[in-house]
Amino acid sequence: MINTTFLKSLPFVQDFIANITIILTIDRVDREWRHRWGSVGIVKEVGSNVQRFKVGDPVEVGTYINSCRDCEYCNDAWEIHCDKGTLFTFNAVDADGTVTKGGYSSSIVVHERYCFKIPSDYPLASAAPLLCAGVTVYTPMILHNMNQPRKSLGVIRLGGLDHMAVKLQGFWVECVYALSGFPSEVRFSPGTLNLRMRTSTGSVTGGTNITQEMIVFCAAKKIYPQMEVIPIQYATEALERLIKRDVKYRFVIDIENSL
Ligand SMILES: [Zn+2]
Repeated sequence: MINTTFLKSLPFVQDFIANITIILTIDRVDREWRHRWGSVGIVKEVGSNVQRFKVGDPVEVGTYINSCRDCEYCNDAWEIHCDKGTLFTFNAVDADGTVTKGGYSSSIVVHERYCFKIPSDYPLASAAPLLCAGVTVYTPMILHNMNQPRKSLGVIRLGGLDHMAVKLQGFWVECVYALSGFPSEVRFSPGTLNLRMRTSTGSVTGGTNITQEMIVFCAAKKIYPQMEVIPIQYATEALERLIKRDVKYRFVIDIENSL
């Protein structure tokens, strides 16, 4: 069952307070349940040090809510790769012992650095999957110049992340290939990378700058994740459907209207 424990206050109350409508996305990776952490809502209160947000702003909190803010990666706005480790939004232990609870709450308190603006004309529910699926595929696509001419994209098995890659790439090239099979079935020899100096890479969401850039891009191009909005009471059935891969492509839990 979904853990509905309320999120404890994080030690940044002076910087940012968002009493938000939480919309959280979930999907399945292999045989392990994962909770995707796109938490969306409206700012209800801000601390005295907050500069980027005001009460009433539509905002989103992503997969992490803290980092050291002092290492090479943090200074380059790649906080997800922080030398001292990022504090994930769900099921992570902060320095004071607080265990994060993700978006399963009616409110969340977070430093403004780890909060993102949602353009006013972008649907809140659609924004929820962006901070997991959207940024996870957007980041490597940008870093590997997939938005440049003469690029093509192959996607193995259309899933929560992959369908966002297809939607994003559709604005840059005409050649997008959706392939059958599953990522676990992909086999290649490292030697095959030598010819033309091919590379293999990975991605785990993105830094704060590129995350905000991705949200703005999706809003400007009217890119919306394909999803099914459900009440929290439907979560168990939704998880059972996920086992059967019976969702295209994301469940989004509407917490506010479930309570
Ligand atoms: Zn750092």
